[in-house]
Amino acid sequence: MASYDLATLVERVRGQSGGEVDRSVPALASADPDLIAVALVGTDGAIAASEDAGVPFSLQSAVKPFLFALALADTDGAALDRVGIEPTGEAFDAIKLESGTGRPPNPMVNAGALLTASLVDGHDVAGRDERILRGLSAFAGRSLEADEEIARDEHLLGDRNHALAHLMRSEGTLRVTADDAVAVYARACAVLVDARALAVMGATLAGGGRNPVTGERVVPAAVARDVVSVMATCGVYDGSGRWMRSVGIPAKSSVSGALVLAVPGVLGAAIISPPLDARGTSVRGHAAADILSADLGLHAFGRPSSV
Ligand code: GLU
Repeated sequence: MASYDLATLVERVRGQSGGEVDRSVPALASADPDLIAVALVGTDGAIAASEDAGVPFSLQSAVKPFLFALALADTDGAALDRVGIEPTGEAFDAIKLESGTGRPPNPMVNAGALLTASLVDGHDVAGRDERILRGLSAFAGRSLEADEEIARDEHLLGDRNHALAHLMRSEGTLRVTADDAVAVYARACAVLVDARALAVMGATLAGGGRNPVTGERVVPAAVARDVVSVMATCGVYDGSGRWMRSVGIPAKSSVSGALVLAVPGVLGAAIISPPLDARGTSVRGHAAADILSADLGLHAFGRPSSV
């Protein structure tokens, strides 16, 4: 892995056209569409990073697996009673809950992440913000901060997130106020990382919850397994089936154009390229993940058979 040529990978996908940067908040609308960075972190702690792997971007929905992990850890698994784990085949912000239970369908769509963010330890918004920042920093192996402007804009402009939070209040599934839920979720989405830090976060999941760079156990192994399982089925929203067929690696997409990938027992990876396809997945990120998976033989179901 350490000898894998990431510069060549970046150049191979640079020519891939198509996609639009997200316009939901000003900071995302002004993202550099030409940024492409990739980082790989082995579960042994080895790191490979392309030239721009230190350029910051907001996590956006790449935070969702980690919110789920923290909620599972802080509730001793009881979060699984409050959020489903089934794929929806619908957009990330669909105004829809699981029929019969009123629970969010899974923790990788907005409804689910609003809920998991409300379940982490903390008595109020500031307490949960603090717990999330501390937890994400442990996953990344360095101290992370939220971009206050992005957090504020997403809190103010996230009408569909407010709608989802109110819907969950009406079902009795969300037990904090709708505004508090959106505030905490928006701030989590606004946390700044770079490809290198996000790859360490993926590698911590791939390593069973132990950060391979710092050696810290961040979440129990059973939590990491649950999170990676749900990334495999729901992480790329209504593009999860397509993604799994071509890349074959559990991953989470996000509207900043970031992708975090986890290959259990092998490596974590992060790719950032802002232009998105219609399902909110980075166009060049998907192309890079296809190549990476093929070159390193990482497809979960692509192993040569002995029969
Ligand atoms: N902050 C975004 C939202 O809630 C995240 C969506 C995404 O990255 O897919 O709308």
